[in-house]
Amino acid sequence: MAAERTDVVIAGGGFAGLALGIALRQSLGASFGILIADPFIDRPADARASAIAAAARRLFESIGVWGAVAEAAQPILDMEVSDSRLADRVRPVFLTFGGEILPGEPFAHIIENCDLIEALTAKARELGITLKACAVTGFDAGSGSIAVECADATASAARLLVAADGARSVRSRSATNSTPRCSRARAGARRRA
Ligand SMILES: Cc1cc2nc3c(=O)[nH]c(=O)nc-3n(C[C@H](O)[C@H](O)[C@H](O)COP(=O)(O)OP(=O)(O)OC[C@H]3O[C@@H](n4cnc5c(N)ncnc54)[C@H](O)[C@@H]3O)c2cc1C
Repeated sequence: MAAERTDVVIAGGGFAGLALGIALRQSLGASFGILIADPFIDRPADARASAIAAAARRLFESIGVWGAVAEAAQPILDMEVSDSRLADRVRPVFLTFGGEILPGEPFAHIIENCDLIEALTAKARELGITLKACAVTGFDAGSGSIAVECADATASAARLLVAADGARSVRSRSATNSTPRCSRARAGARRRA
């Protein structure tokens, strides 16, 4: 079967993969082909909530997604971190966060992950990004393109494969032979030469 051709395949439709796909489509236009593959597309299974820092919230605003979830998000006005039990008489505080980035702009918001994933998925679909409910199972980087294999036995030929399959990214590990880490000394984006 002939592989479907596209410009970029993004393996992983979490916050990172969906936001990247949306930003690429908005920046590069409809002629730039984007495919996001994730087995959990359209059935978010993430029951967690996240603290979205102001910088990340601004990114979601600029790609036109935050408005859809703003009412469900709760501003975090201050936070105290203590390694103690609720019932302890003395509860030493080790770390505090608080204040506003700008007047009226809290330093973070708490939000249920599935709400944000649903809003990102809806925006990606509205922009015509191809969403595939399937895991990326492997790839073969040839000279002109990357052959990307999916669990449903289909294949895509892409100019770029992005590993957005989470902190313990299997796709990234198989490309670099190491698990991506972010040490205190090297925080930030890592680019391979
Ligand atoms: C307990 C806990 C609490 C956290 N709290 C916060 C918080 O408060 N604030 C915060 O900013 N961050 C928090 N994080 C980190 C948070 O998980 C990440 O910031 C965020 O989810 C990262 O998004 P992501 O898209 O990189 O990865 P993920 O959310 O992990 O998404 C990865 C996606 O890749 C998909 N996938 C996996 N394998 C494949 C494959 N082979 N092919 C295709 N798709 C694949 C998965 O189905 C998933 O949808 C927390 C993490 C944990 C574990």
